Amino acid sequence: MKTLRTVLQEAQGRGDAVGHFNVSDLVLLKAVLAGARELNVPVMVGLSEGEREFVGTRTIGAVVKSLREEFDFPIFLNADHTHSLAKGIEAAKAGFDAIVFDLSALPFEENIRQTKEAVEALKAINPAMLVEGEIGDIGTGSEIHDKAPDLAKGLSSPEEAKHFVESTGVDILAPAVGNMHGLLKSMVSGETKKRLDIERIAAIKKAAGTFMTLHGGSGTDDDDLRKAIAAGINVVHINTELRVAWRRGLEQGLAKMPDEVVPYKIFPPAVEAVKQVVLSRLRVFTGKRKAA
Ligand SMILES: [Zn+2]
Repeated sequence: MKTLRTVLQEAQGRGDAVGHFNVSDLVLLKAVLAGARELNVPVMVGLSEGEREFVGTRTIGAVVKSLREEFDFPIFLNADHTHSLAKGIEAAKAGFDAIVFDLSALPFEENIRQTKEAVEALKAINPAMLVEGEIGDIGTGSEIHDKAPDLAKGLSSPEEAKHFVESTGVDILAPAVGNMHGLLKSMVSGETKKRLDIERIAAIKKAAGTFMTLHGGSGTDDDDLRKAIAAGINVVHINTELRVAWRRGLEQGLAKMPDEVVPYKIFPPAVEAVKQVVLSRLRVFTGKRKAA
């Protein structure tokens, strides 16, 4: 099985990005794997600290490893938005392939100091684990927001990106380039879309010269996503869109069978709804291999 680093290098060579989808139960995990297998593209699943607390860090480590072996399929596991080294070590020991070590809320130099420390500690446990660091402000919470946060002040610059990557030794950088976590109500309905600062992405890529992740990809204009990938984004995170589909699918399942109590009869519409989102996003990220 290829390593995640190789998968990212190959995707970059093709001009594709790898889709990263957050999961917090078996419905979401089944849907992500089914979508990726249908298009035959590698995929990442991620769990934030809250998502890991619900599912179990060691549990998801074992489940993803077993899926990878059973289906001989490149599915990789990421410890999304990890805010402490202790939680990072837990994930490294549970076999996670990557981690987002997110201290972006701290002052810049403190973010650098602690991220560097984490890179060293985590690579000592698993040298192949990819460590992602985050700079700038892209808001918090993959949920529905009433109003947009002011992101303008938290945008990343090429200079700080270069300094951060060189000082910490991270494998992947998560910059703030107009993206944000969560969706506004007008984005859930599709009325408005997130727009990205493509020139900034290209300038940061040139300066930092490393793999780059776009967080908060839900609700982003498709063309902006394609341009962002062409400008140097290697991984795109989608969470809120999946959560919206999960809820709608579940409501559908419950409404269709008001007296049903068997979970595996109620859940299939939720799996299908999430899978459709995964398919449509993966097609955008891997445009050159558009499936029929
Ligand atoms: Zn994120």
